[in-house]
Amino acid sequence: MSKLPKTNDLGFFEIRLESIGGLGANLAGKLLSEDGVVGNGLNGIGFSSYGSEKKGSPVKAHIRFCNPEINIRDTTPIERPHVVGIFHDALFKTIDCTSGIYPDSTILVNSQKSLDELKTAMKIPSGTIAIVDATGIALEEQTKANTAMLGALYRILDFLDPESMKQTIRRTFEMKYPHLVEPNIRTFERGYSEVEFKTFLLEDGSEPTPFTRPIPLLGYETHAIGGMITNPGNSILKDLSISRAGMLPHFHEEKCINCAACDTACPDFCFVWEEKADKRGRPQMFLQGIDYQYCKGCLKCVTACPVDALSGEREYNDGYADKNRVPHLFDLAIQN
Ligand code: SF4
Ligand code: SF4
Repeated sequence: MSKLPKTNDLGFFEIRLESIGGLGANLAGKLLSEDGVVGNGLNGIGFSSYGSEKKGSPVKAHIRFCNPEINIRDTTPIERPHVVGIFHDALFKTIDCTSGIYPDSTILVNSQKSLDELKTAMKIPSGTIAIVDATGIALEEQTKANTAMLGALYRILDFLDPESMKQTIRRTFEMKYPHLVEPNIRTFERGYSEVEFKTFLLEDGSEPTPFTRPIPLLGYETHAIGGMITNPGNSILKDLSISRAGMLPHFHEEKCINCAACDTACPDFCFVWEEKADKRGRPQMFLQGIDYQYCKGCLKCVTACPVDALSGEREYNDGYADKNRVPHLFDLAIQN
């Protein structure tokens, strides 16, 4: 049986996965809790919380482990995690991913940023930051980032046996998707070996921040007068870049024949057109570019384009989407 390195007052070691729908955190949480119990002899529970079942909406997976003699009677969301797994580094902008961490918690992030950049972005005073380019691994192995995140988590959760997780992955995929077994095991192994760590200690003389429970923004005591919603869930104003799984279409205007096949294929109306005169002076619609605010990186447009005027490229942290965005109508996001 595995031995837990530390536990809270109730005897639990707690893990929280922060993600959005579509990145596979729910499945990762299920596999992790199943393997902790079935493969490693611990007592455990795993469940997820999410709002509307829409790709791109926030998802949290909660996993609790304890020794077998302890009964689990706590199914509340995890507020004080020993380990946090963050499935996309743009999540910090909208969600307090690190809420409730201990001074020595470990935070694993799927990111291409540096460990110091992440510490600044997350505004955490201390703890261990672990980083893995799970999206890059998944793109190369043609799998999903969740298995690479699981691999990195198993380096952190060294009381769990990685070989038993490989068996769990095999069991999960071999009936329905046998062709995905080996790529997912490779993805898991790469996540395990490619994760990097850095531990930050509290600065001399500073005290750990005491735990405070976040006040609900829309509670009965805190709601705006008249029940007014002051922060509407509006796709014009939200940062939707998180919903892309690492790829982005690039537009090569010089090759475009304005056939609109891309616009027909795109599920999110990302293509922006303008009426201009053609060579004979007749009005014609010309493609201006892509409004990346709404693009989810599915690359259906790239497949549809008959002349390679669109190419599917890896999205890096270089602000390409912001710099090359052609906004629909006018840019409300910037005005706000
Ligand atoms: S990648 Fe998908 S969502 Fe983005 S522009 Fe192309 S078809 Fe539209
Ligand atoms: S499918 Fe290709 S050629 Fe046709 S309008 Fe779109 S980008 Fe241009």
